Amino acid sequence: MNLLFPSVYLDSVYAIDYEKVKELGYKAIIFDIDSTLVPHGDDTTDQVDELFAHIHDVGLKTLLLSNNSDERIALFNRNIQTLYIPMANKPHKPNFLKAIDMLGVNRSEVLLVGDQIFTDVLGANLCGIDNVLVKFLKHKEDINIGKKRQVEKLILQVYTLLYKKRKHRLSDIVVGDYRKMDKKKKLFCEIHPAFYAISVRKGILKRHVDNL
Ligand SMILES: [Mg+2]
Repeated sequence: MNLLFPSVYLDSVYAIDYEKVKELGYKAIIFDIDSTLVPHGDDTTDQVDELFAHIHDVGLKTLLLSNNSDERIALFNRNIQTLYIPMANKPHKPNFLKAIDMLGVNRSEVLLVGDQIFTDVLGANLCGIDNVLVKFLKHKEDINIGKKRQVEKLILQVYTLLYKKRKHRLSDIVVGDYRKMDKKKKLFCEIHPAFYAISVRKGILKRHVDNL
Protein backbone atom coordinates (compact mmCIF):
# COMPACT_ATOMS: atom_id res chain seq x y z
CA MET A 1 0.00 0.00 0.00
CA ASN A 2 2.88 2.38 0.76
CA LEU A 3 3.81 2.27 -2.91
CA LEU A 4 0.53 4.03 -3.66
CA PHE A 5 1.06 6.80 -1.12
CA PRO A 6 2.72 10.06 -2.19
CA SER A 7 5.39 11.74 -0.06
CA VAL A 8 3.02 14.70 0.20
CA TYR A 9 -0.35 15.63 -1.28
CA LEU A 10 -0.79 19.29 -2.23
CA ASP A 11 -3.35 21.50 -3.96
CA SER A 12 -1.40 22.43 -7.05
CA VAL A 13 2.00 22.91 -8.66
CA TYR A 14 1.64 26.53 -7.54
CA ALA A 15 1.42 25.45 -3.89
CA ILE A 16 5.07 24.34 -4.00
CA ASP A 17 7.79 26.66 -2.70
CA TYR A 18 10.53 25.79 -5.20
CA GLU A 19 13.19 27.72 -3.25
CA LYS A 20 12.50 25.47 -0.26
CA VAL A 21 12.72 22.42 -2.52
CA LYS A 22 16.18 23.60 -3.55
CA GLU A 23 17.16 24.28 0.09
CA LEU A 24 16.21 20.70 0.96
CA GLY A 25 18.90 19.51 -1.43
CA TYR A 26 16.86 18.60 -4.50
CA LYS A 27 18.48 19.45 -7.81
CA ALA A 28 15.77 18.54 -10.29
CA ILE A 29 12.02 18.09 -10.68
CA ILE A 30 10.27 15.69 -13.02
CA PHE A 31 6.82 16.93 -14.02
CA ASP A 32 3.83 15.11 -15.41
CA ILE A 33 1.92 17.34 -17.86
CA ASP A 34 -1.71 16.30 -18.33
CA SER A 35 -4.01 17.19 -15.43
CA THR A 36 -0.94 18.30 -13.46
CA LEU A 37 0.17 21.45 -15.31
CA VAL A 38 -2.90 21.87 -17.54
CA PRO A 39 -6.19 19.98 -18.05
CA HIS A 40 -5.73 16.87 -20.23
CA GLY A 41 -4.57 17.70 -23.76
CA ASP A 42 -4.43 21.49 -23.25
CA ASP A 43 -1.61 23.61 -24.56
CA THR A 44 0.77 25.38 -22.22
CA THR A 45 -0.20 28.76 -20.72
CA ASP A 46 1.73 31.92 -19.82
CA GLN A 47 1.35 30.90 -16.18
CA VAL A 48 2.96 27.50 -16.82
CA ASP A 49 5.76 29.03 -18.91
CA GLU A 50 6.44 31.56 -16.14
CA LEU A 51 6.41 28.81 -13.52
CA PHE A 52 9.17 26.94 -15.35
CA ALA A 53 11.19 30.15 -15.85
CA HIS A 54 10.94 30.67 -12.08
CA ILE A 55 11.97 27.08 -11.29
CA HIS A 56 14.96 27.39 -13.61
CA ASP A 57 15.89 30.74 -11.99
CA VAL A 58 15.86 29.04 -8.60
CA GLY A 59 18.50 26.68 -10.01
CA LEU A 60 16.47 23.51 -10.37
CA LYS A 61 16.58 21.40 -13.51
CA THR A 62 13.32 20.10 -14.94
CA LEU A 63 12.09 17.30 -17.16
CA LEU A 64 8.63 16.59 -18.57
CA LEU A 65 7.72 12.91 -18.25
CA SER A 66 4.49 12.08 -20.03
CA ASN A 67 2.61 9.11 -21.39
CA ASN A 68 1.39 11.40 -24.16
CA SER A 69 2.84 11.67 -27.68
CA ASP A 70 6.10 13.27 -28.82
CA GLU A 71 4.18 15.77 -30.95
CA ARG A 72 2.03 16.94 -28.03
CA ILE A 73 4.94 17.40 -25.66
CA ALA A 74 7.23 19.07 -28.20
CA LEU A 75 4.49 21.67 -28.77
CA PHE A 76 3.86 22.09 -25.05
CA ASN A 77 7.59 22.52 -24.47
CA ARG A 78 8.20 25.17 -27.15
CA ASN A 79 8.52 28.07 -24.66
CA ILE A 80 9.61 26.06 -21.64
CA GLN A 81 12.57 24.53 -23.45
CA THR A 82 13.33 21.72 -21.06
CA LEU A 83 14.18 18.03 -21.28
CA TYR A 84 11.31 15.67 -21.95
CA ILE A 85 10.42 12.03 -22.44
CA PRO A 86 7.21 11.24 -24.35
CA MET A 87 5.32 7.90 -24.37
CA ALA A 88 6.87 7.28 -20.95
CA ASN A 89 4.81 4.20 -20.16
CA LYS A 90 4.44 5.19 -16.51
CA PRO A 91 4.40 3.55 -13.94
CA HIS A 92 7.01 1.28 -15.51
CA LYS A 93 10.46 2.09 -14.24
CA PRO A 94 12.73 2.42 -17.32
CA ASN A 95 11.76 5.98 -18.28
CA PHE A 96 11.88 7.23 -14.68
CA LEU A 97 15.46 5.93 -14.53
CA LYS A 98 16.21 7.41 -17.95
CA ALA A 99 14.90 10.77 -16.69
CA ILE A 100 17.27 10.70 -13.71
CA ASP A 101 20.08 9.84 -16.10
CA MET A 102 19.22 12.69 -18.50
CA LEU A 103 19.07 15.13 -15.56
CA GLY A 104 22.46 13.91 -14.33
CA VAL A 105 21.38 13.68 -10.67
CA ASN A 106 21.05 10.97 -8.04
CA ARG A 107 17.59 9.63 -7.38
CA SER A 108 17.65 11.18 -3.90
CA GLU A 109 18.12 14.59 -5.52
CA VAL A 110 15.06 14.45 -7.73
CA LEU A 111 11.41 15.14 -6.99
CA LEU A 112 8.46 14.04 -9.11
CA VAL A 113 5.26 16.06 -9.35
CA GLY A 114 2.16 14.43 -10.82
CA ASP A 115 -1.59 14.00 -10.47
CA GLN A 116 -2.09 10.23 -10.73
CA ILE A 117 -1.46 7.59 -8.08
CA PHE A 118 -1.28 4.64 -10.48
CA THR A 119 1.20 6.21 -12.88
CA ASP A 120 3.16 9.07 -11.28
CA VAL A 121 3.22 8.15 -7.59
CA LEU A 122 3.56 4.40 -8.10
CA GLY A 123 6.35 4.76 -10.68
CA ALA A 124 8.26 7.24 -8.51
CA ASN A 125 7.92 5.04 -5.42
CA LEU A 126 9.07 1.97 -7.34
CA CYS A 127 12.23 3.91 -8.22
CA GLY A 128 12.72 5.42 -4.75
CA ILE A 129 11.96 8.96 -5.94
CA ASP A 130 10.27 11.42 -3.55
CA ASN A 131 7.01 12.63 -5.02
CA VAL A 132 4.30 15.25 -4.74
CA LEU A 133 0.76 14.36 -5.71
CA VAL A 134 -1.30 17.38 -6.74
CA LYS A 135 -5.06 17.69 -7.16
CA PHE A 136 -5.88 16.91 -10.78
CA LEU A 137 -6.92 19.65 -13.17
CA LYS A 138 -9.93 18.97 -15.35
CA HIS A 139 -11.94 20.76 -18.00
CA LYS A 140 -14.98 22.62 -16.72
CA GLU A 141 -17.28 20.39 -18.79
CA ASP A 142 -15.90 17.17 -17.25
CA ILE A 143 -18.52 16.64 -14.57
CA ASN A 144 -18.03 12.94 -14.02
CA ILE A 145 -14.74 11.52 -12.87
CA GLY A 146 -13.63 8.09 -14.05
CA LYS A 147 -13.51 4.85 -12.07
CA LYS A 148 -9.76 5.16 -11.61
CA ARG A 149 -10.24 8.53 -9.95
CA GLN A 150 -12.85 7.00 -7.61
CA VAL A 151 -10.32 4.37 -6.53
CA GLU A 152 -7.70 7.11 -6.10
CA LYS A 153 -10.14 8.98 -3.90
CA LEU A 154 -10.48 5.94 -1.63
CA ILE A 155 -6.70 5.50 -1.45
CA LEU A 156 -6.34 9.17 -0.56
CA GLN A 157 -8.88 8.77 2.23
CA VAL A 158 -6.81 5.90 3.69
CA TYR A 159 -3.65 7.96 3.15
CA THR A 160 -5.14 10.92 5.00
CA LEU A 161 -6.25 8.68 7.87
CA LEU A 162 -2.93 6.88 8.22
CA TYR A 163 -0.61 9.74 7.42
CA LYS A 164 -2.40 12.65 9.05
CA LYS A 165 0.16 13.02 11.80
CA ARG A 166 3.14 11.92 9.71
CA LYS A 167 5.65 14.62 8.98
CA HIS A 168 7.63 14.26 5.78
CA ARG A 169 10.44 16.69 5.07
CA LEU A 170 8.45 17.77 2.03
CA SER A 171 5.57 18.89 4.28
CA ASP A 172 7.37 22.22 4.65
CA ILE A 173 7.43 23.09 0.95
CA VAL A 174 3.93 24.55 0.90
CA VAL A 175 3.67 28.21 -0.14
CA GLY A 176 2.23 30.38 2.66
CA ASP A 177 -1.05 31.29 0.91
CA TYR A 178 -1.87 27.65 0.29
CA ARG A 179 -1.13 26.75 3.90
CA LYS A 180 -3.71 29.33 4.96
CA MET A 181 -6.17 27.92 2.43
CA ASP A 182 -5.69 24.48 3.92
CA LYS A 183 -6.79 25.73 7.31
CA LYS A 184 -9.78 27.59 5.88
CA LYS A 185 -13.02 26.01 6.99
CA LYS A 186 -14.74 24.04 4.29
CA LEU A 187 -18.20 25.06 3.10
CA PHE A 188 -21.01 22.70 4.07
CA CYS A 189 -21.41 21.57 0.45
CA GLU A 190 -17.68 20.79 0.14
CA ILE A 191 -17.51 18.26 2.97
CA HIS A 192 -19.15 15.31 1.21
CA PRO A 193 -20.98 14.74 -2.13
CA ALA A 194 -24.17 14.00 -0.15
CA PHE A 195 -23.97 17.43 1.47
CA TYR A 196 -23.49 18.95 -1.95
CA ALA A 197 -26.68 17.23 -3.13
CA ILE A 198 -28.53 18.60 -0.07
CA SER A 199 -27.23 22.10 -0.82
CA VAL A 200 -28.45 21.87 -4.40
CA ARG A 201 -31.91 20.69 -3.26
CA LYS A 202 -32.06 23.47 -0.68
CA GLY A 203 -31.28 25.94 -3.49
CA ILE A 204 -34.03 24.52 -5.70
CA LEU A 205 -36.53 24.54 -2.81
CA LYS A 206 -35.64 28.13 -1.98
CA ARG A 207 -36.25 29.13 -5.61
CA HIS A 208 -39.66 27.43 -5.57
CA VAL A 209 -40.61 29.24 -2.36
CA ASP A 210 -39.41 32.54 -3.79
CA ASN A 211 -41.51 31.97 -6.90
CA LEU A 212 -44.70 31.34 -4.94
MG1 LIG B 1 -1.40 13.32 -15.44
